[in-house]
Amino acid sequence: MVDPRERDLLATVPDGLFIGGEWVAADSGRTLTVQDPATGDVVKTIADASPADGIAALDAAAEAFPSWAATPARSRAEILRRAFDLLTARAEDFALLMTLEMGKPLAESRGEVVYGGEFLRWFSEEAARVTGRYAPTPEGKGRMIVSQHPVGPCFLVTPWNFPLAMATRKIAPALAAGCTVVIKPAALTPLTTLLFAKLLQEAGVPAGVVNVITTSASGAVSEPIIRDPRLRKLSFTGSTGVGQRLMEQAAQGVLRTSMELGGNAPFVIFEDADLDKAVDGAIAAKFRNIGQACTAANRFIVHRRVVEEFTRRVTERVAEMKVGRGTEEGVAIGPLIDDRAVAKASSLVADAVARGAQVTTGGEALAGSGTFYLPTVISDVAAGSDILREEIFGPVLAIVPFDDEDEAVRLANDTEYGLVSYVYTENLARGQRMIERLETGMMGLNMGVVSNAAAPFGGWKMSGLGREGGAEGIHEYLQTKYTLTPDP
Ligand code: NAD
Repeated sequence: MVDPRERDLLATVPDGLFIGGEWVAADSGRTLTVQDPATGDVVKTIADASPADGIAALDAAAEAFPSWAATPARSRAEILRRAFDLLTARAEDFALLMTLEMGKPLAESRGEVVYGGEFLRWFSEEAARVTGRYAPTPEGKGRMIVSQHPVGPCFLVTPWNFPLAMATRKIAPALAAGCTVVIKPAALTPLTTLLFAKLLQEAGVPAGVVNVITTSASGAVSEPIIRDPRLRKLSFTGSTGVGQRLMEQAAQGVLRTSMELGGNAPFVIFEDADLDKAVDGAIAAKFRNIGQACTAANRFIVHRRVVEEFTRRVTERVAEMKVGRGTEEGVAIGPLIDDRAVAKASSLVADAVARGAQVTTGGEALAGSGTFYLPTVISDVAAGSDILREEIFGPVLAIVPFDDEDEAVRLANDTEYGLVSYVYTENLARGQRMIERLETGMMGLNMGVVSNAAAPFGGWKMSGLGREGGAEGIHEYLQTKYTLTPDP
């Protein structure tokens, strides 16, 4: 039986493409379906854009750019602030919609509305802080003016795991800077972006400033947009492989790019850690979003003196986690996004077990409808296991023991990624040494979750380029101009 609250909410979600301020069908008339991963049921059928639709969206963004760029920063900020207020007022709708299309527990969806909303508030405040400088040259001959300008129309590509926050983290700084955008959400979770575009329209975003294309043919639709000379910026969040491909396409037009890619976060627990805090942090860093976060702890590197105690305590907690549809009371672990994700978790665990790891809880997929994998802990994971090299993107906590600080650093840095690292120690000097020695764009020191709209989010090494959030975030959408003038 269909829940009336879900049915009423879904009726308010647009099913068209949003181009030039209008909701339109795909020019081919094609549609795509969005499914609830907890049940496999169709949630909604929406437009499936063609490459021509993608170019129409870019046409609209290019046309709207000059007047949006010339709109005073304060006016742009007020629209973003209105969007923040509207989103806050409708938090329950957005939370439920994310749970329906992506599967995360409702409490976490509510958390994402707060986190995602903060980018609107933060960048509404940053819009008016963009400044330049005026200074004499060092020789005292002439005056230099340095000014900042919006880069132009942007193409934003977002993943399925945080349907709202990944959209606001890009749209808010772009609009604050004076850029117009075409956004392409993942085909698995496009509904949140569609409802959010409707909210932006209501908040007063002018026609063409934000355009949304939903498509099952992401490669075919994206490439002509990226290769179009009118596009000036590509911002992508997703897997490293797709990011690399898009960077190759972007090279042709020497496009500005921001890349938020994969991670393989170490979670290091020293023998002097407060284990209560470490267990709480581990649960948050590993199981938030059902383990499907680029910031998810992937490798638990635990000092041999505390590894048994940590494994026992964390296993007890994980064994109690309730698995089910995200709308059910008390559920901590919803479904994985699809069958492929379940197969990946299963094969990573099987490979680790074949190399000698022990499963202390979980370790299997759930039979029946929906794509569920039990929350799992595996200990004694051997060096060389696939699970230590690959992003798990599922609820599997893998433990590796170590003997001294140098070994912990070597293990933590032994990855081509460098998005985030977690370290638990009560020793301040050791914590400071770890800040200096870990190859990472972000770090939680005795903290299991680091994301904050006011902080620069982004990675080192193959985890990406550029930063989202913080004072840095808006500069991804600005370009610098230097002008020399004579002495007055
Ligand atoms: P994905 O790379 O498969 O897809 C991301 C987006 O790219 C989607 O919109 C998808 O439709 C699109 N896409 C896929 N192939 C494309 C192509 N050939 N051309 C253009 N667009 C294409 O990633 P995903 O499975 O949706 O998300 C999971 C990945 O995202 C993980 O690796 C995760 O670490 C990463 N991620 C990173 C961050 C971060 O901030 N660093 C945040 C969330 C997710």
